[in-house]
This record gives sequence, structure tokens and C-alpha cells, in this order.
Amino acid sequence: MKLSKAIWKTLRENPSDAEIASHQLMMRAGLIHKSAGGIYSYLPFAYRSVRKIENIIREELDKVGCQEILMTVVTPGDLWKETKRWDQMGDQMLKFNDRAGRDLCISPTNEEAVTDIFRNIVSSYKQLPLTVYQINTKFRDEIRPRFGLMRGREFTMKDAYSFHLDKASMDAIYDDLFKAYSAIFERLELKFTTVEADGGAMADGDSKTHEFQVIADSGEDTLIEAAEIGYAANIEKAQTFRNGLTFSKETEEIKEVETKGFATCADVAKHLDIPLEHTLKTLIYTATYGTKEVHYMVMILGDDEVNEVKLLNVLKANHLTVASEKTLEELNLPKGYMGPYQKDESISVLLDSAISLGHNYVVGANKTDYHLTGLNIERDLKKYKHVDLRLAKEGDLGPDKKSVVSCRKGIEVGHIFQLGDKYSKAMKAKVLDQNGKSVTPLMGCYGIGVTRTLAAAIEQSHDENGIIWPQSIAPYHVYFAVIGKSAEIKNLANSIYQELQDSGIEVLFDDRGMGPGPMFKDADLLGLPYRVVLGERDFNKDGMLEIKERKTGEVIKVSKDELCGKLKGLLS
Ligand code: ATP
Ligand code: MG
Repeated sequence: MKLSKAIWKTLRENPSDAEIASHQLMMRAGLIHKSAGGIYSYLPFAYRSVRKIENIIREELDKVGCQEILMTVVTPGDLWKETKRWDQMGDQMLKFNDRAGRDLCISPTNEEAVTDIFRNIVSSYKQLPLTVYQINTKFRDEIRPRFGLMRGREFTMKDAYSFHLDKASMDAIYDDLFKAYSAIFERLELKFTTVEADGGAMADGDSKTHEFQVIADSGEDTLIEAAEIGYAANIEKAQTFRNGLTFSKETEEIKEVETKGFATCADVAKHLDIPLEHTLKTLIYTATYGTKEVHYMVMILGDDEVNEVKLLNVLKANHLTVASEKTLEELNLPKGYMGPYQKDESISVLLDSAISLGHNYVVGANKTDYHLTGLNIERDLKKYKHVDLRLAKEGDLGPDKKSVVSCRKGIEVGHIFQLGDKYSKAMKAKVLDQNGKSVTPLMGCYGIGVTRTLAAAIEQSHDENGIIWPQSIAPYHVYFAVIGKSAEIKNLANSIYQELQDSGIEVLFDDRGMGPGPMFKDADLLGLPYRVVLGERDFNKDGMLEIKERKTGEVIKVSKDELCGKLKGLLS
């Protein structure tokens, strides 16, 4: 590829909406073009990398026996209605009507579509297990599209779906896909880890699911890890234990104390001179079930936070929000001073499991400017549910209650799930088993965010001058630049370019005739693994060209005749 002909423009400044390095660099290096919020076109260099990622995925999935198919981007609403997800997906799903008024959507995922294909084609256990995959465009109308390709609205996903006669087969394919994913991300030269994840609304119950997370400070996910016992979970899922809580020795009586102007747990604890974890935080949540709304009182230790994913799972609701001020008024709950004691009976109480049932706590008195001290759960509350609701944090104890956990940030690039029979049952997919009995197959699903992976690779590998591509997905391997105006040097450059191409080296030829300053800036920004410079003055002096490695900055000199061989060696 000759740069003089490329549809390419670099920017010297970061676009104002680009907050993280990968987004800034992809815009500045002319890789993508923003069409609307969260919707990007891929320009030639990015698209070459995307195709390389896709091919690595294909090779590894084909190795474990997956079959590539291509499903439609638009799917009929009727399929989604069979699993009730037409309503459950909410505003994330972009829905529309065709000219006949039929419901359609742009697929955010494809469980329904693949199950429909399966039930129409597969009828015998002999065809199982079966795994299909596709690499296709998805659309999710994200509330906050941001970070460029990292959280786009339109993006490329690889989604695979497996079908099984029994749990053993579902487990075996899950393991195969786990290994294939590890191989994929290793070949992509990413620093990644795997964590236990939350299955969310994808599967019913506590099904097995893992995420593949690229380690990056800018990642949106928090990973909770206890390395010595091999524990790692997404914070959404992590169940850890409080470390070093102290409890009261004697039982106190309930006492009302004035706390005017002290409406947060931290202020109350300071005012009363007690540890923050001896106060309880009261939150009211509104859970939505279809069109029905139910309010819950959620209690956690004063220095903890609620894990809303866990709460949603416990409540089995479609959706969850912190109750509005209007709701609090209707429930007669004074903001900053509410609590579980002698409150409205209609509202259920959920207590986090870190709360000790026999300890004396300080809680809101349900009276503005007052708190209660000495609240003892067992003695003073009639009805409550005691469940794990807190957000894990640094310094907690892991599942063994001994090792201390730490936190890291990650970018979720892949996610594998065991779906069980959720979709096959709802959509009445059936196969005949060995005994001729009609049974519902089990399913698994396995996603990789292809375009998010591209962004994650850049997020993980760059410096102040630009991108540093992993060789496996670099758009080209060599940036070949010529400095000089004479016809001789231009001819020589053209013949070297031809020779590099002929020997199978992926080379981008900067033939724009720019000065070395801006040309080298562009080369660093684009970040191909090697830069080769043919400088007229130097070449005329010693007949040498310069090879510079982007990652290390190391420079070596080679003669024209050595160039191809040397590059091939470096790239192999
Ligand atoms: P997230 O938690 O980041 O919103 P998700 O858990 O909803 O993602 P999945 O349904 O597991 O996503 O989709 C499979 C993969 O698709 C994810 O692991 C991720 O790599 C990718 N992906 C999901 N949403 C986006 C998005 N908005 N932009 C780019 N890639 C995405
Ligand atoms: Mg996910």
C-alpha cells in the first residue's frame, strides 16, 4: 500500500470527546471515522487489523470443531417474543417496523435466531453436540456509548452457540471454548485474565460463566482477586467477606439521638464517635417486574456499597433503580434519616450478610434529624432477608476467609456462558435421544467483542508517541519511508518497495515526499512494528538503510541487499 493513495489523515490533537488512549490514538492515527455517537466506520488500517483478529478467532474455533455461519443482522420480533425478551431487553434493543407493520430489531445478540435455525434443522441426538459461530454486526443502544470502539453502539461480535444432549457435553464444550479463547487472546499478544462472572439475564439460575478480561487501568470492570488461592471474579459476581470487623460485647437498648445536619453514615459516625461500620446505610430501591413496581429497603454496613447486580439477581426483577424522592415521600421515609425500625410494613427489608444479627447498630429513626442507637436486628426487626448484597472491595477476605483480596481494572473482551435450557425450552427446540424420546437440548453461548478487542490491544500497548501494535494484528508490519527528492532515490525506493512486497512482507510505503519530522511522527503514531528509512544523504554516504523497532526504539543499519532477509528474521 502506498500512503500517497491511502484514504488516511492523521490528527495532531486529541478529539475533545476521546477520554482514553485507545480512542484518542485510533482517531489521531486515522483508523476510524465517527459517524454518530458510538457508531464508527473502520478505515483501511483498522479494518486490516479487524480482519486479522477475526481470522485468529476463526482458526482457533475451527480447531475445536465449531462451524461458521452468518445470521441476519435484522431479526423478527416474533422470535424475541417467544422468550419474552422482546420486552425484557428494554431500550438497549433497537426496534422498528417494516412496511407491513411487522416488528423487527437489529440484533444485540442471537440466541433466539440460532435456536430457530436449530429447531428447524436438527432433530437427532446423533447431530449433537453442535457448535456454530458467526462474526457479525451487533447493535446495542447503550445508555453511555463511550471510549470509541470500547463501548460502541454498533460493533462487531463473534458469537458462538452450542447445543447438547446433556450437562456433561455442555461442560466439555465449555472447556474446549475456554481453551480456544485462551489461545486466541494469547495469539493476540494481550495481557489477560479470566474471572468468574455474573450470568445476568442471559441464563436462569447460577449457571457457569467466565469473562476474559484484558488488564488495563482504563477498564470499566473491576476484578477481585486472591492470587494465592486462584480466586478471581468480576466485582459484579465476587462474594468476599469483611476483614477485621469489631462487634459490641453488650446489648444496648434502642435510644433516639438527635443528629440534626448529620444525614450520612460518615457524618453520624463522626458525630457519635463510633466506627463507621457500626452504622447501617438504608437505601430504597424500586424493582420493576413487567409493568409492576415494588419497593425494597436495602441495608448494608455504613462503609459498604450495594452491589446492584447481586440485588437484581436476588429480587429476580427486570430492572432496578434507586427510589425517587417522590417515592420516599409516598412511603413516609425521610431522606438521610430512614431506617428499618417501625417503618411501613408493606416494604420488605433486605439485610446484607456482613451485618451481624446480634450487634448494636446506629440507623435512621424514620424521623428527620434523628437516628437510633442500639438497634439489634434479632431483637428489634420482625421480618427481613439476610443475603449477600455488598460490593466486594480491596482488603476483604476471599472465599477461604483467610486470603486478602486485591482489585484490578479490566476490559471484558470475551464472555462464555452455560445457558442450560432457557432458550431451547422457551422456543420448543427438541431432539430425539438414544431411546427415541423427545428431549430439550441444553445450550452454551460464547462471545468475543472483536472491535472492543482491537481497542483493548491499543489501550494495552502504546506510548506518548502513538500505538505500538502487537505484531499479530498490526495493519502492516513495516513502515517504509523514503527521504529525498532525486529521481534516483525515488526509483530505488520503488524497487525496494516492490522487493519487500514480493518477498511477502506486509509493507506500507510512505511515498508522500514529506520531510522526516512529520513523516516519523506519523510512523510512530501509526505504530507498525518496524520502520525502515531510506535516506538519500546517508545512503549515498554508506549505502545503508535504517531499521527501527517501534517497541524498543532499537535501530540497526543494513545494506539494501540485507534488508529483506533481516526483516524476515525480525518478523519470524
Ligand atoms: P458489557 O458488560 O461490557 O456491557 P456485556 O456483558 O453486555 O458487555 P456480552 O453480552 O457478554 O456483553 O457480549 C459479548 C461481548 O461483546 C462482550 O464480552 C464484549 O467484548 C462485547 N461487547 C458487548 N457490548 C459491547 C459494546 N457496547 N461495544 C463493544 N463491544 C461490546
Ligand atoms: Mg458480558
